[in-house]
Amino acid sequence: METVEALFGSNVFNDAVMQQHLPKDIYRALRKTIDDGRRLDPTIAGAVAHAMKEWAIGKGVTHYTHWFQPLSGITAEKHDAFITPVAGGRVIESFSGSELVRGEPDASSFPSGGLRSTFEARGYTAWDPTSYAFIKDGVLCIPTAFCSYGGEALDKKTPLLRSMEALSRQAVRVLKLFGNDARRVLPSVGPEQEYFLVDKQTWTQRKDLVFTGRTLFGAKPPKGQELDDHYFGVIKPRVQAFMSELNRELWKLGILAKTEHNEAAPAQHEMAPIYTVANVATDHNQLTMEIMKKVADRHGLVCLLAEKPFDGVNGSGKHNNWSMTTDTGTNLLEPGDSPYDSAQFLLFLVAVIKAVDEHQDLLRVSVAGAGNDHRLGANEAPPAIISMFLGDELTAILQAIDQGTAYIGHEKEEMAIGVHVLPKFPRDNTDRNRTSPFAFTGNKFEFRSVGSSASIADANVVINTGVADALMRFADELEQAEDFQASLHDLIVREIRAHKRIIFNGNGYSTEWVREAKKRGLKNLPTTVDAIPSLIDPENIELFSRHRVLSGTELHARYEILLENYCKVIAIEAETMLSMARREILPAVLRSAGDLAASAKAVKDYAPVFSTLPHEKLLARLTLGASRLSDGIETLSNAVISVPRAADALTRAIHMRDRVLTAMAEVRAAADELETIVDKRDWPFPTYAELLFGV
Ligand code: ADP
Ligand code: MG
Repeated sequence: METVEALFGSNVFNDAVMQQHLPKDIYRALRKTIDDGRRLDPTIAGAVAHAMKEWAIGKGVTHYTHWFQPLSGITAEKHDAFITPVAGGRVIESFSGSELVRGEPDASSFPSGGLRSTFEARGYTAWDPTSYAFIKDGVLCIPTAFCSYGGEALDKKTPLLRSMEALSRQAVRVLKLFGNDARRVLPSVGPEQEYFLVDKQTWTQRKDLVFTGRTLFGAKPPKGQELDDHYFGVIKPRVQAFMSELNRELWKLGILAKTEHNEAAPAQHEMAPIYTVANVATDHNQLTMEIMKKVADRHGLVCLLAEKPFDGVNGSGKHNNWSMTTDTGTNLLEPGDSPYDSAQFLLFLVAVIKAVDEHQDLLRVSVAGAGNDHRLGANEAPPAIISMFLGDELTAILQAIDQGTAYIGHEKEEMAIGVHVLPKFPRDNTDRNRTSPFAFTGNKFEFRSVGSSASIADANVVINTGVADALMRFADELEQAEDFQASLHDLIVREIRAHKRIIFNGNGYSTEWVREAKKRGLKNLPTTVDAIPSLIDPENIELFSRHRVLSGTELHARYEILLENYCKVIAIEAETMLSMARREILPAVLRSAGDLAASAKAVKDYAPVFSTLPHEKLLARLTLGASRLSDGIETLSNAVISVPRAADALTRAIHMRDRVLTAMAEVRAAADELETIVDKRDWPFPTYAELLFGV
């Protein structure tokens, strides 16, 4: 078998391949484009395209595609063969510079939130040279951004790239004040991906899993995750075979798959890559999700990426590890070991604290979705209230700065900014609290609210832009300072005081926290519908416009799309539920009741002296349950029929949440109760026990 070193990146047109395949001057020009994050010089595009095609053809590739990330949150591709007809009825294989740089998919069916009407459907895609081209399933994929002809972003990548620019611009200004002449600052991201694996045969028998990706019914099995015996447990051979193949597929694409383990819930697992630049990490995470599904299929498994596929056990998320790194490789959230480094660290730290406090609503909306609503705040995932965990030590340091007192650590230390060195923060002091949505873990932050199926782009757009805005304000102020040291000190103290309410090191799952957060004036946006309107809040439109990340029009489009998507997801779930309840569960229950009645009659016929009390008791429960289920079906059906179809998206979304989801909960409760008393042989589809413990 090929070594990992030989395998790694073998399907990527990466730096080494470029160097090998491109003329020296072209390589240098392309390298500069990538390093400076600029647009490609059109005069070199032809040579790059030619080299790319030659390399790809050498690997048996026949087609290319612009690979992009429309607002549906998944990836899109349309394959074109390299062939061009020539005289004599023959073809040659060609790929031009303009085909590399720009594509025009007929993209009328992608959601645009009104940015583009279907009659002017043609958006265009533009190469993002900072993310390497790669070969997937025999097709050369060019990572691109997707825009309308008016220049509006129709995808998740464009605002991400813009937010990275904004962050870099402001961070470089701040660094200059510390005498650091870094030219660029890039957000680094390492997304830990959680997922479930279930047996494909079993999966096929559940319409809810097939159509919605999550179970809409299912009574709790006798055993769930209460023994904590799955987390980090021995990996079963079938799962291990899946993981090994997954790793190899990811390595071929240059994805730094590093860690694999079992997660808390039965059948739940995690893969964590080594971090990389935010836009590449986003591309890689999209690819990871796609490949997880494909590889699972080859092993007779199905990979579930839904946020809450099963009630009663943990859901899946994506821990978005985030930091800022200079072009010279310095992590700006590394406390450092000189007084100067410490002061600079504190300023960047405070910028993140300010950003999270000021943009709680945007962080919440960046992880919003019908699926994640079942997970956030469900006593296992971060609550819908955004707060930050800094660990005792760092919190004590900020407190000492705030109060102008000495910091009492292991030894008594004074903390004068710019004079003293911060102590090192041992990982185990900072990584204990798993209940916090936004935790400092030694030299990076971990945003844990992101849903497992989501693109990480949205969350990183908000973090980058929020931090860029805080840094901009700091730079505006400090660039004017006469005494930098004194102004820096005042600024840090002031900002800590203004934003310390967002810091919470306690148990984020507790009900006391909900009360305490309210007292502190923190936002609590429990559902997606509560969160989405913050996208078009005038202050937020200003924020995104100020940094040229998203315009008001683009934000309105995203607002519409999110609401529409929420309505559609719940409508599909409701229809699936109705079909299963009406055509599978209720008939099974009635049949079971009929058999029971017949059996009781048979007993009595045989000899009236025998008791049919057990029959009668069970029959009473079955028929009562059946009528509860039948009422539930009717209520749900009415809720679906009465969707105000002509109303605006927000009104419809509120109806979905308040009427449809509530009715769905009742149907489920009735059915799950019945599942526990109906004859096992009569139950129409596999249960949780088979799904969760069947692999
Ligand atoms: P865990 O949190 O599971 O204990 P680690 O903290 O080692 O594990 O890493 C979790 C993720 O954080 C990995 O994807 C890792 O690459 C990423 N990570 C580590 N350092 C940084 C950083 N400076 N910026 C962004 N992500 C990082
Ligand atoms: Mg972690």
